[in-house]
Amino acid sequence: MYAGIETGGTKTVCAVGSEGRVFARVQFPTGTDPESLADQCAEFFADHPVTALGLGTFGPCDPDPDSPTYGHILQTPKPGWTGADLLGLLSARIAVPMAMTTDVNAAALGELRYGAGRGLHSLVYITIGTGIGGGAIIRGRLLQAGQHPEMGHMLLPQSTGPGVCPYHRNCWEGLASGPGMQARSGVPAQDIADDDPAWILEAQIVATALHNITCILGPQRIIIGGGLGSRKALHEHLPALLDESLAGYLPSPSLRVPELGGDAGVVGALTLAQDHRPG
Ligand SMILES: [Zn+2]
Repeated sequence: MYAGIETGGTKTVCAVGSEGRVFARVQFPTGTDPESLADQCAEFFADHPVTALGLGTFGPCDPDPDSPTYGHILQTPKPGWTGADLLGLLSARIAVPMAMTTDVNAAALGELRYGAGRGLHSLVYITIGTGIGGGAIIRGRLLQAGQHPEMGHMLLPQSTGPGVCPYHRNCWEGLASGPGMQARSGVPAQDIADDDPAWILEAQIVATALHNITCILGPQRIIIGGGLGSRKALHEHLPALLDESLAGYLPSPSLRVPELGGDAGVVGALTLAQDHRPG
């Protein structure tokens, strides 16, 4: 049995399972105290013995096992978390081999192995909600190097602004996240009706970002989830807009919603543990 932890901006999920199935889980607020979060995780796994643990975390984080700050959370606006040694806090409490990556890389792994990416070797997983994040698996390997990808902060043409990212304004997240969409429409994104033309502009922005991702990574498939990313109103426009943008120069990757839904991240964390088991 394996342990999977997904730490998100607001909630954390701990799960026990294997082969893409979750047998037990618990969920609590991520909060502002990393020590207390690690205590809560350890308490759950004390009752559920596991042989390895996989962690998929919000970022930015350090995913490089050769770095002295491997498993740390980096500079973040989230109170209490800048510099937190999340993996170290867990290792001090739960004595099993551990591996970590970003929440979106974990989701990409979960979908590749057990969801909408089964049978493929290269895919990108995108979540669009309060923020935008992207993870990737290329030829079966998680894409992370000295840093992990921050696809949501790629810059896009400025004509679609104004963007709301406090760091870059008109990055993808600044333009097409929930707050970005609300800044253009004046109403919360989740309240915008499916037939509102706001979704066409939203789909155009997303298609531009998918164009860039396709040109750089050439994935076989792009899976798009999250509160906004899963909306039918977005998906019905995306394939044609991506084809149009790539203009026949490259074939478009197939686009899908996550099959594992909100479980993609935690199933991915379990899969990371499974791949990292001793022996
Ligand atoms: Zn940004």
